[in-house]
Amino acid sequence: MKKLNGTIIVTYRCNARCSMCNRYKAPSLPEEEISIETIKKLPPMYFTNITGGEPFIRSDLKDIVRELYKKSDRIVISTNGYFTDRIIDLCNEFPNVGIRISIEGLEQTNNEIRGLPNGFNRGYETLKKLVELKHPDVGFGMTVQDKNAKDLVPLYNISNELGMEFATASLHNSFYFVETKNIIKDRLMVAGYFEELINELLKSSSPKKWFRAYFNHGLINYIFSQKRLLPCNMAFDTFFIDPYGDVMPCNGTKDKEVMGNLNTQSWEELWNSTQAEDIRKKVRKCDRNCWMIGSVSPAIRKHIFKVSWWVFRHKFLRCFKKKKYSMYENKIVRDFSDGKVSKEQLDKLSTCDLTAIVNDGLSDKSKEIFNDMTGEEFVEKNLKNQDI
Ligand code: SF4
Repeated sequence: MKKLNGTIIVTYRCNARCSMCNRYKAPSLPEEEISIETIKKLPPMYFTNITGGEPFIRSDLKDIVRELYKKSDRIVISTNGYFTDRIIDLCNEFPNVGIRISIEGLEQTNNEIRGLPNGFNRGYETLKKLVELKHPDVGFGMTVQDKNAKDLVPLYNISNELGMEFATASLHNSFYFVETKNIIKDRLMVAGYFEELINELLKSSSPKKWFRAYFNHGLINYIFSQKRLLPCNMAFDTFFIDPYGDVMPCNGTKDKEVMGNLNTQSWEELWNSTQAEDIRKKVRKCDRNCWMIGSVSPAIRKHIFKVSWWVFRHKFLRCFKKKKYSMYENKIVRDFSDGKVSKEQLDKLSTCDLTAIVNDGLSDKSKEIFNDMTGEEFVEKNLKNQDI
């Protein structure tokens, strides 16, 4: 069987309060969350991302990772870095697991965006402890927006000092983020900081960073609401599975799109079903133009010549013509700054919809949580019960 790229959303419970994601208000019920039995049914994968919510809220995360290692070449866990002891404990048992901690800016900006008390210091301490332990695969990620764009290059510099990976994203709207109103307001300002980062990445001697430069070039294109630079191939060799066992093409759709359910079906039955085929047809026509690493990384693998050409041209121009990358290489940036395209036109093309009804993708049973309390209260109570 062909190896796939899978993302496992192990829980929708989250202890953070991010301004660009309302998932913390819509948690899943622990007893409904994906079981080891369902995880055993997943296909072989060349890459697995474990995410949430906050995955380390699950007390059985080690059991999940142990099972996933039987079928995956590489595992990376995305976390807010808050539960340091659990993270260190897991890394001691699985020294090859990748850890990506979300840090949304320098201290004050991060704490404002993530809404976690002392969140920056907790995340940063976790990072430092992992470095002290010489954990080989550690990095941090940042969702770039108006509030934190100025911290982009300083954070990249910190990642270099610590010898870590640095991943970027920008604002998206979807059922997964329980959000429809995210949008970049000052596009030129944010793109300017991306331009600075791209030049830093191209300056480095690491080919991996040159490809990251391309990814960030795609983010400029995305925040100007343009067609993706590479076609989206989700649901073909890539999938997401949510806490309920529902297999989906991605986490970028407005409403939850389901190919099948792994609690009740076998992988082969689900993956080859007409329902899955219908979702693939929808992906082919999808106009949301997301640019998140989950959908871009497989696309880069598929279109490696096109991307390598971009990298080669920009390295060549830099080395031999002393020419830096400019965001004005993108026609839309020129048109926007020349006034040929207005902010309102770009806003209309984006996925931001101030009037849309937000779908959270929760099961009816999980929604019963709200009969007695808010999602935040539910998670707080749950964490107290776990004594973390
Ligand atoms: S562009 Fe791709 S990743 Fe984004 S919503 Fe559409 S199918 Fe999903």
